[in-house]
Amino acid sequence: MNEHPELLRRTAELAIEFLDSLPDRQVAGQQDVHELRRELVRTLTEEGEDGQVVVEDLARIGGEAAVAMAGPRYFGFVIGGSLPSALAADWLTSTWDQNAGLYVAGPAASVVEEAVGSWLIDLFGLPPTASYGLVTGCQMAHFTCLAAARQAVLERAEWDVTGRGLFGAPEIEVIVGDEAHSTVLTALQYLGLGRDRVRIVEADDQGRLSAAALADALKAVPRDAPLIVCLQAGNVNTGSFDPIRESIGLVRDRPGAWVHVDGAFGLWAAVSPALAHLVDGIGLADSWATDAHKWLNVPYDSGLAFVADPSAHAAAMAPPHAAYLEYGPEQERDEVSWVPEFSRRARGFPIYAALRTLGRSGVRRLVERCCAIARRMAERLEGNPGVKILNEVVLNQVLVRFTPPEGGDADAFTREIIRRVQEDGTIWLSGTTWHGMAAMRISVSNWSTTEADADVAVDAILRCLSSR
Ligand SMILES: *Cc1c(COP(=O)(O)O)cnc(C)c1O
Repeated sequence: MNEHPELLRRTAELAIEFLDSLPDRQVAGQQDVHELRRELVRTLTEEGEDGQVVVEDLARIGGEAAVAMAGPRYFGFVIGGSLPSALAADWLTSTWDQNAGLYVAGPAASVVEEAVGSWLIDLFGLPPTASYGLVTGCQMAHFTCLAAARQAVLERAEWDVTGRGLFGAPEIEVIVGDEAHSTVLTALQYLGLGRDRVRIVEADDQGRLSAAALADALKAVPRDAPLIVCLQAGNVNTGSFDPIRESIGLVRDRPGAWVHVDGAFGLWAAVSPALAHLVDGIGLADSWATDAHKWLNVPYDSGLAFVADPSAHAAAMAPPHAAYLEYGPEQERDEVSWVPEFSRRARGFPIYAALRTLGRSGVRRLVERCCAIARRMAERLEGNPGVKILNEVVLNQVLVRFTPPEGGDADAFTREIIRRVQEDGTIWLSGTTWHGMAAMRISVSNWSTTEADADVAVDAILRCLSSR
């Protein structure tokens, strides 16, 4: 215990040094796996080592190898960094080491979740009575929401899936868009709903599900079949949105059908009046999955599941009462009832800190700034010969394709430019294949990315384009 203050102060110093290095360091970090293994995978000592030595070692090795995704020049995947207040609250979360399963095991953790849940329901414009669960990420949010969906659609068919499982249950029809994120399929896989038996509805050139094709798919589903339809708010490549109001309208023709929305980052469009048209009608769905660790910029692991029908949600998630559990009186929130975990981290604290520091307008500005920067990058890139923007930049995602000046294979050339940019290290981003074409993906999701960073990024891309 005596070494606590010194070790923790030193660790804070090391953490601050790392954060200070972010704006200038090479984004990709040290990547040599053999070197990392040699340094990290040692023989475990019999006696144990000094904590200070271990932490210094980790800070050096781990810090050097760390990808600077918390920094302003990381444009890969859809990532987001950590707001300082959220990071600080995350430190406290580990320090307090609460078990956010039961109210009695961490009362503040439980009540902070109530604050976070109600604030976000309000910010997103979801039904005020919706229930919520704080999970590790959007994939587990899908799992949670789709478990509630499975519960509700089978309950309507007088089948108790919680007690009896799926053996002998009526078949559930599942419809997803052709551009659904893989994690939706993974959640279906975990839930025994099968990822290969879904009905797939075609999407357009921007990745938006076609409402006409959805109407056709619905016609093929027997009228009284239990039915789950998965929509998407924010395509991981283009940032595009399914036609949400129209699609939900079509599904509502089927009594008892459930609509789930993947809004991993796109749900955040709801906080901005300028972007809210993209999620028009979103509150009419039955469940919503999103992330706080992406666009809200809190540390990993932080996903959010919202369900319009709290009883379906709790029926799907709450454990059978174990005798030793001390359940609080009705008015206290026991988190185990809403998530697939039992003991877990009190991940509400960083979200709480982020939302309180940003305030309503701060959240709005964070989202709008990222979108404005994405548009700026697309506009600056587009003016150059051999550069084509493949998507309508409606949110924070940009897809870029490059054609070689002397003609030839644009796919190979685009991949080569991505490789050069990654190697250059000024920024980091990755590639994708969009409708059969190789493309560079730019995602602007970090609170600390400025217009100047965006200009540096575009310069780096153009430099790599003209280098031989
Ligand atoms: C990132 C993402 C997911 C998965 O979220 P995790 O937090 O990584 O589990 C799901 N859907 C979309 C659209 C995403 O962008």
